[in-house]
Amino acid sequence: MINRRTLIKHLSAMPLLGGLFGSAVPLQSVLAAPAKAASRNVLKELGLRTFINAAGTYTAMTGSLMEDDVVETINASSKEFVMLDDVQTKVGEKIAALTHAESAVVTAGCFSAMTLGLAGVLTGMDQKKVELLPHLEGTDMKSEVIAQKAHNIGYSHALTNTGCKIIQVETLEEAEKAINDKTALLWFLNIQSDKGKIQHQEWVNLGKKHNIPTMIDIAADVPPVENLWKFNDMGFDLVCVSGGKAMRGPQSAGLLMGKKQYIAAARLSMPPRGSTIGRGMKVNKEEILGMYVALDKFIATDHQKEWKILEDRVATISGAVKGINGITVETYAPPLGNHTPTMRVTWDTGKINLTTKTLQENLRNGNPSIEVVGEPTGISMTTWMLKPGQDKIVAARLKEEFTKAAV
Ligand SMILES: *Cc1c(COP(=O)(O)O)cnc(C)c1O
Repeated sequence: MINRRTLIKHLSAMPLLGGLFGSAVPLQSVLAAPAKAASRNVLKELGLRTFINAAGTYTAMTGSLMEDDVVETINASSKEFVMLDDVQTKVGEKIAALTHAESAVVTAGCFSAMTLGLAGVLTGMDQKKVELLPHLEGTDMKSEVIAQKAHNIGYSHALTNTGCKIIQVETLEEAEKAINDKTALLWFLNIQSDKGKIQHQEWVNLGKKHNIPTMIDIAADVPPVENLWKFNDMGFDLVCVSGGKAMRGPQSAGLLMGKKQYIAAARLSMPPRGSTIGRGMKVNKEEILGMYVALDKFIATDHQKEWKILEDRVATISGAVKGINGITVETYAPPLGNHTPTMRVTWDTGKINLTTKTLQENLRNGNPSIEVVGEPTGISMTTWMLKPGQDKIVAARLKEEFTKAAV
C-alpha cells in the first residue's frame, strides 16, 4: 500500500494525480474537498501564555486585538486571488479620501512606512535608483535627513535603512543651517514634539521654504481620531501611522499617507517588486483589506462614548485600591501619544511591602495572568486593551496583592 509520505512525494511530482486521490486521502488543503478541519486551539497546543492586557498597545504584547469585521475581512479575502497592486491602489484611494491625503498605501507598520516613504523621496520614479538603495554613495541621490535631537529616540533607524544619515539639530537656526544639497527630508516625531524646540507648523514651513519634503511619525498618536488628517491638512508631505495599535488593524500593518508623487515612488520599493529595499516589507492582501476596514471602523467609532467606557474602567480599578493605606492613585491621559485614560499606582513601601517587580511577577503568574507597566516607582495601567469585565478582575487582583503585602 502506498503510504502518505510517498503519496505526497508523488503528488508533488505529478500534480494531476491529486485529483484522482483527492477524495481518498484526507489532505486538508484547498486542493482537497473542503473537509472542515476540527478547530484547533493552537495557543493552548503550544502552551502559550495569554493574559489580560492592562498595559497598552505594546509591540511586544502583540499590539491590539482585531475586531470581528477585520478578521472576517481577512478570512473572506483569503479565499480569492487578486493582484497585489490592484488591492493597494483601490484601498489606497479609499484611505486617502478618509484621511485628506492625496494618496496612501498600506505598509508593514509605521516603521516600514517611514523607510518606504523616504525611499520614494530619494528615488522618485527612477527604477535604477530604486535598485541602488541603500547605496547612495556615488549617485546623485540625496543622503541626509534632518531631525530634532529630542525626536531621535530610536525609530530613526527606519530612515537610515535607506542609506541616509540623520543630522541632528535643536533650534530653527540650526535646522536652517543644516539644510544643504544633500538634504532629502525633514523628519518630525509627534510624540516628542513637546521635547523639541521646533513645532509642527514651523517644521512644515521650513520644508516648504527650502523645497524639501517633510515627514511626520504619528505611530501611536491616535486617538484623537483627527490626527489621521490633521497633519495631512497641515502640509506634511508624508504621514506615517501604525495600524495595529489603537486602530486595531493587523499588528503588522500601517499607513503611509501623503503627496501623490512620493507615494507612487514609494511603491516602486514595495512588493511585488523585487531588487528593492522594501521587498521584505510585504503586506498580504488580507491585511491590506483588514487594515482598511479597521481604519474605516475606527473613524466611524463614537470616540466620546468609548472614552467614557475606558474612564469607567479606570474608576473601577482605582476605586478598588485607592482606599488601601499607603496607596496613591493618579489618573491622566498622555497628551501626545497613547492618548487614553491611564492610571499610575504608587505606594509607600513602609506600609506596603512590595517591589514593582514582585507585583508585576505576581500579576503575571496569577490566574488569569495580567500584564501592567512597570514604572521607576509603581505601576501604570490603561484600560483600552481590556475585554469587557476584565477591569473587575484587574481591580480584584490588585486589591488582593496590595492587601497581602500590607505591613
Ligand atoms: C510603534 C512605533 C513605531 C513603529 O510602528 P510599527 O507600526 O510597529 O512599525 C514607530 N514610531 C513610534 C513613535 C512608535 O511608537
